[in-house]
Amino acid sequence: MAPYVHERSRYNLEDGALPTQWYNIQADLAHPLAPYLGADGQPADPAALAAIFPPPLIEQEVSTERWFDIPGAVLDVLHTYRPGPLNRARQFEKALGLPDNVHIYYKYEGINASGSHKANTAIPQAYYNKISGISKLSTETGAGQWGSALSMAGAQLGIEVEVFMVGVSYDQKPYRRIFMECFGAKVHRSPTTLTQAGRAMLAKDPDTLGSLGLAISEAVEVAATHPDVNYSLGSVLNHVALHQTIIGQEAILQMELAGEEPDVVIACIGGGSNFAGLAFPWYLRRKEGKTKTRLLAAEPKACPTLTAGAYEYDFGDEAKLTPQMMMYTLGHDFVPPGIHAGGLRYHGDSPLVSQLVHDGEVEATSVWQKDVFAAALEFARSEALLPAPESAHAIAAAAAEAKAAAEAGEARTILFGLSGHGFLDLSAYENYISGKLQDYDFATGAVVE
Ligand SMILES: *Cc1c(COP(=O)(O)O)cnc(C)c1O
Repeated sequence: MAPYVHERSRYNLEDGALPTQWYNIQADLAHPLAPYLGADGQPADPAALAAIFPPPLIEQEVSTERWFDIPGAVLDVLHTYRPGPLNRARQFEKALGLPDNVHIYYKYEGINASGSHKANTAIPQAYYNKISGISKLSTETGAGQWGSALSMAGAQLGIEVEVFMVGVSYDQKPYRRIFMECFGAKVHRSPTTLTQAGRAMLAKDPDTLGSLGLAISEAVEVAATHPDVNYSLGSVLNHVALHQTIIGQEAILQMELAGEEPDVVIACIGGGSNFAGLAFPWYLRRKEGKTKTRLLAAEPKACPTLTAGAYEYDFGDEAKLTPQMMMYTLGHDFVPPGIHAGGLRYHGDSPLVSQLVHDGEVEATSVWQKDVFAAALEFARSEALLPAPESAHAIAAAAAEAKAAAEAGEARTILFGLSGHGFLDLSAYENYISGKLQDYDFATGAVVE
């Protein structure tokens, strides 16, 4: 019998090796971000955001300082689950039949109880609101992961949390609601009759499944009308992208341990913070001339914001309560079909990621839902890890990159972000396995066979 030769597949950092600063890409853009526009159509005064956000987050939102120190109290809580793992997916590579020169690595964010990268910003947001004298955070949740993350952070940092949960997810994912309640949050099925925005939508369509844009309207309305309540957003905004950059900073250190430089860095994209968190530190590294890696965002074909949307000013929510942002958008009144990746059902996208796509710094691709679930199960069965359906968009895109490289006979090192686990998405997997899952064509709105 030949002696066993261990092929390393885990590249993890020591406890305490968590980055102590966040990277602000606004310091390194080719041109400044287009300003947010207020209700009068003029550039919004950042102070106007003070009704719903605390001063430290507003400062981070507009700053062009390259680095922000992470407060010690935030690092303490982040250390309950970070630094996070980076693995080489050797068993998945085998399952795909890849040649020796095509490698796939993944950075895993499903390592906290709430199950996704969203905890990385929930924790600092809870902290900054708490030290600014706020007693409660109101927020929306689509698939439930953001509400879960904020509920968990609220419990850890001692601040109340009220969640407006998109109707379709509330119905499909009771365990998510229960999870939030375990951490002490109050959860409503959106739209509700508690807000003007909710009542208006229910009057128009009493059977509505809700949408992320509408749930945002409800949560913002509650914050704007109560002085001790602030709003908390789990994606899209610049300060959220900032908090997520610990992902990419860790990944750079870990790829150095692995002794490889990725040719392409891939992450799924809903509002953009997960993609930003993994990709922005690599953008800086590329700017510094240390890597040539491509940056690729993967989105659903049913909600193809970056690949089929318009780059223009639009509102972040259905009721037009938010400032207008320059971004790729499918329109603030777009209600995506009930696909099983609730975290990717958003009409808009991060203004930062949008600008980088528009400038050609970041690429985007869209994937069919059925291909996503096929890739998810192939990954699950080889790597023994059940991915969130959102994350599986990145797996599908990574597998496509790997196969294309293999077919072209080229070497390729691929790094993708596995943004969360799928333990609370089992009904989506059941739908796929039983053949009930459908694909929707964005252009016609029709089911694709
Ligand atoms: C929310 C979520 C996403 C989408 O994140 P964005 O930062 O909004 O793009 C991706 N994966 C998982 C597991 C999520 O929970």
